[in-house]
Amino acid sequence: MNLVVRKRRGQKSLRMHFDDHGTLIVSAPWFATKSQIDSFISANSAWIEEHGSKIPSHTYASGDALPFLGRSLPLYVFKGEKNVFLRDDGIYVFVRHPDNKESVKRELYRFYSRMLYSYAMEKVPVFCKRMSLEVPTIEICNAKSRWGCCYRLKKLIKLSAILACLPPNLIDMTIIHELCHLVYDGHGEDFKAMLEKYVPDIKEREKELKEISRSGIVRNLF
Ligand SMILES: [Zn+2]
Repeated sequence: MNLVVRKRRGQKSLRMHFDDHGTLIVSAPWFATKSQIDSFISANSAWIEEHGSKIPSHTYASGDALPFLGRSLPLYVFKGEKNVFLRDDGIYVFVRHPDNKESVKRELYRFYSRMLYSYAMEKVPVFCKRMSLEVPTIEICNAKSRWGCCYRLKKLIKLSAILACLPPNLIDMTIIHELCHLVYDGHGEDFKAMLEKYVPDIKEREKELKEISRSGIVRNLF
């Protein structure tokens, strides 16, 4: 389990929660000492165990189930020259050392990045045309704490490879959300109006995304 301690100025007491990727975030007042933080963590070990165990973990071996474009696909791992391919019945990974989880994980990350990139390259120009926007540069990253982000001045949108786990309607929503940031920086009224114009069922989609995040199925994949 990953642990991140964040010290905050305004905060008066210690708090903790799991983020969408199963990292335990402990937020502490700036004056909290290491031993205070450690004893807070051990005093809450039962809570941590209960909530942490709800986050499914992957084995990265044949038999594992991987979320991909909103489906759950079986993983097959074989010994061979590095390669990953998608078939109707599953995701096939070839690596030199099939027992090495890290190398399977690395190949999966490359595969998800590639799939998301080609998906985005197909969709972004269509959305931009509809939204009367110039097509931005698209990059795929390994962000854990956000689905995407937009650098308005650089006309650059970064999408997290983990997005490829989601059903296409939620990937589209995220892409359109970031495209709206090419026009508006924050999440103000103008931004919301633009997003709703291009994603009229945004409320339902956001709810669906929240449920997926909460269920933990896309957590900790890479
Ligand atoms: Zn945003």
